Amino acid sequence: ILQLYGPLDQFGASYRSLQKNFIDLERLLDVFKEPVEIQDKPDAKPLVINGGEVVFENVSFSYKAQNPNLKSVSFKIPPGKKLALVGPSGGGKSTILRLLFRFYDPTQGRIMIDGQDIKYVTQSSLRRLIGIVPQDTALFNETIEHNIAYGHIGQDDLSAESGWGRKYKEESTSSSSSIADVTESKDAGYSDDEGLEVDGNIQAAAEAAQIHEIITRFPNGYATLVGERGLLMSGGEKQRIAIARTILKNPPILLLDEATSALDTQTEREIQNSIEATSKGRTTLVIAHRLSTIVDADEILVIQRGEIAEQGSHEELMQAGGIYASMWMQQLREDRTPVSSNGLSEKE
Ligand code: ATP
Repeated sequence: ILQLYGPLDQFGASYRSLQKNFIDLERLLDVFKEPVEIQDKPDAKPLVINGGEVVFENVSFSYKAQNPNLKSVSFKIPPGKKLALVGPSGGGKSTILRLLFRFYDPTQGRIMIDGQDIKYVTQSSLRRLIGIVPQDTALFNETIEHNIAYGHIGQDDLSAESGWGRKYKEESTSSSSSIADVTESKDAGYSDDEGLEVDGNIQAAAEAAQIHEIITRFPNGYATLVGERGLLMSGGEKQRIAIARTILKNPPILLLDEATSALDTQTEREIQNSIEATSKGRTTLVIAHRLSTIVDADEILVIQRGEIAEQGSHEELMQAGGIYASMWMQQLREDRTPVSSNGLSEKE
């Protein structure tokens, strides 16, 4: 069902009816004690940001009753600092991001942003203040301009499609119409052959994400339709759209899920540079697959079997000679081993 959301976005009515069915389905599932959608508390207040400090206090969480997927995880990210999560697949890295975005509430412990327990703030205020650059960016079959502006309003739906999120429904129906509000105030911006002007902020975001040049080469510039689920764009281009979206949204807190899939090295480096620039001054949590990208992180957590197995800076963890250090050596070895076009190591 989730996969249908992107392309259906434009068909307002059918979308809403689908959504209603989805909600009905969820009510039905409720009866069978499936997890309940997170709700605002009746007296929920908007989150007030003051620098963007993120604290996990003894956070435990289970998707299903039996085994905990996170066990008493505690860490603190000072305002504007960068925390990297590394570790084996299934360890719990994405779960940490999901909890911070409040797709679920912890079973135990609490998550605080600037001293406020996120369980007691409104979800809309929380999600407005958090930007996401997912691994795989789902695009709407809409214009490029729309796709960049979308994140300015709320990335919630897109994060769901990226794989680590859950569908967030409350705001999604309003998203298409509110694009107009964003594009209404047209600053002096790029104007394509058809004389369509593009919002200056959108263009500035696209420039910062190094996608503006590419966009101007498309037949209709910013008015080009990206095709069903963004089929007309490469993985790297889509990721740059996600970066542009985030720049436009300008959130104090940033969640990054680094791509595992190999983009070509030049592209990867360029994207890495835009991400670096975007995360400056924002409290950043990054799930890293290439350890070389997080050498400069203020702190690195090795997450394994739902627990923090190691914690420290790159230098500290290298010196400790534990899991992180062996992951690093492993990656060095892999980087030195030529990989043939079928993706298999040639030495094997
Ligand atoms: P990867 O690097 O492969 O993305 P990860 O460290 O991000 O892994 P998580 O996705 O956080 O790991 O998963 C942690 C554990 O929770 C895994 O055992 C996973 O199978 C389980 N899990 C994740 N999502 C769900 C879900 N929706 N329902 C039940 N179990 C889940």
